[in-house]
Amino acid sequence: STGLMLPLSSPISVSTMTTASSKANLLGCVGGGQLGRMMALEAPRFGIEMKFLDPAGDNCPAAKVVSKEQIIKGSLKDASKIRELAMDVDILTVEIEHVGVETLEALEAEGVNVQPSGRVLTIIRDKFLQKEHFQEHKVPLGSYRKTSSLDDIKEAVRDLGLPLMLKSRTGGYDGKGNAVLKSGSDQDIAEALQKLGCDDSSTAETELDLYAEGWINFDCEVAVMVVRSSNNVDTESYPAVNAIQVDSVCRVVLAPARNVPTDIRKRCEELSREAIDSLGKGASGVFGVELFVTKEGNVLLNEVAPRPHNTGHYTQDACTVSQFENHLRGVCALPLGSTKMIVEAAAMVNVLGAPSGTEEDTLKSSNAALEMPTAVVHWYGKHGCRAGRKMGHINLTGSSQGEMDDDLKQLLDIEGIPLS
Ligand code: ATP
Ligand code: MG
Ligand code: MG
Repeated sequence: STGLMLPLSSPISVSTMTTASSKANLLGCVGGGQLGRMMALEAPRFGIEMKFLDPAGDNCPAAKVVSKEQIIKGSLKDASKIRELAMDVDILTVEIEHVGVETLEALEAEGVNVQPSGRVLTIIRDKFLQKEHFQEHKVPLGSYRKTSSLDDIKEAVRDLGLPLMLKSRTGGYDGKGNAVLKSGSDQDIAEALQKLGCDDSSTAETELDLYAEGWINFDCEVAVMVVRSSNNVDTESYPAVNAIQVDSVCRVVLAPARNVPTDIRKRCEELSREAIDSLGKGASGVFGVELFVTKEGNVLLNEVAPRPHNTGHYTQDACTVSQFENHLRGVCALPLGSTKMIVEAAAMVNVLGAPSGTEEDTLKSSNAALEMPTAVVHWYGKHGCRAGRKMGHINLTGSSQGEMDDDLKQLLDIEGIPLS
C-alpha cells in the first residue's frame, strides 16, 4: 500500500505557490460552464474544492453548485483575472481550450501547476497546430493544408478536391468555425470567408487564420475519452462510442459503438491513447478524441479536446468512474479510476433549447425521462434558454440495447432528432 492517497492536508498558501504541488485541495478551473459544473459535482467526494473563473459570474452553471466565494467573474482571456484565480488554488485546469493560454504559460514559468500544461493547450487550441503535431507523430489524419491567403485556398481546392472543408484555426465549436466549399468559385470562397468572419477587404494584407481539410466520406464518427495522469504513468481509455452529429452538433452518443466491428473499436481506442501520449509531459486529465471511421474501415483522427467532452457524458451513469472524476484524478496526480462500463449498453441524448426558445418546451424530454426506468437527467442550470443551446443531457443505461431502445426512441422523437 502507498498509504494516504486523498489530498487531506490544508490548502497551501500563496507564498508556497512557487513549489508546484502535485496534490490539490483547491483546484481552479478556467471556465464555469456545464463541464466545470460537472467536475465540481464530483470533487467534494474526494476532498477537493473547486474555484472558477467565468464571464457569467454568479450566473454560470458551476456557480449553482459551489459557494459564492469560489466564483470570479471575468473573461477567460483576461490575464489579471486568470492570475487572481491562480493566486488561491493549488492546481489550475480548464474546461475549455479557448482561454488565455499565454497567461497560463507565464504562470507555469512562475511555478504554478497548470494541468494540462500550457504547451499542450497551445498545440490543441489551434486546430492547424494540432494537425501538424499529430502528422509529425504519425497519427493517421485526412489531408489538410494551411490556407493563409486566397491563393492558398484555390491551391487547396486543386490539390485536396471538392467539397473542401475550410476551418478556423482557433475558437471553433459546434461547427461554428467551419465552412464547406462546394466549388472553387470566387463567390463561394467569398461566402465561406464571410461565414468564418474573415473580412475580405483585409485578406490581401493580413494572413487568414484558416486551414483546409479534404472531404472525408466517413461511414460514422466515433469518440474515445482518454485519461492521463499528471504523473505520466498511466494512460487509460473509455470504450469507443458512436458520436452522432446533426448540423455539426453532437446530438446522440451510443456506448459501446454500434455497427463498428470490435477490431475497429479497439483500433480507435488504441489510436486515441497513442495520440494523447504523443503530446508528452503535461498531457494530463481527460481528452476527448474525435475520430472518423471511413467506408474502407480506416480510422482517422478528426480533432482532440483537452478536457471532458460531450461525447463522454454517458460515463457518469455507465462507467465505474466518470470522465469528470477521472479528469480531477488525472490533473491532481491521484490514481486513475476504472474506465470500464458497468452496464451492457448506454446512450446519451443532448437536450438543446427547443426551437421556440422556451424553457417549457425544452424541458419536455427531461420530463419524459423522469418517468423512464432507464434514464437519468442532467440539467445544467444555465441562465437563459435559447433555441439550440446545450441545456442538459439525458443518460440511458440498460442490461441490453433492447432494454433502453424504446425509451431512447421516445427521447429522440421529442428532441426532434431524425431516426435512421
Ligand atoms: P466541436 O463542437 O466538436 O469542437 P468543431 O466546431 O470543432 O466541433 P469539427 O469537429 O471540426 O468542428 O467538425 C464538426 C463536424 O463536421 C464533424 O463532427 C463532422 O461531422 C464534420 N466534419 C469535420 N471535418 C470534416 C471533413 N474533413 N470531412 C467531412 N466532414 C467533416
Ligand atoms: Mg472542436
Ligand atoms: Mg468536433
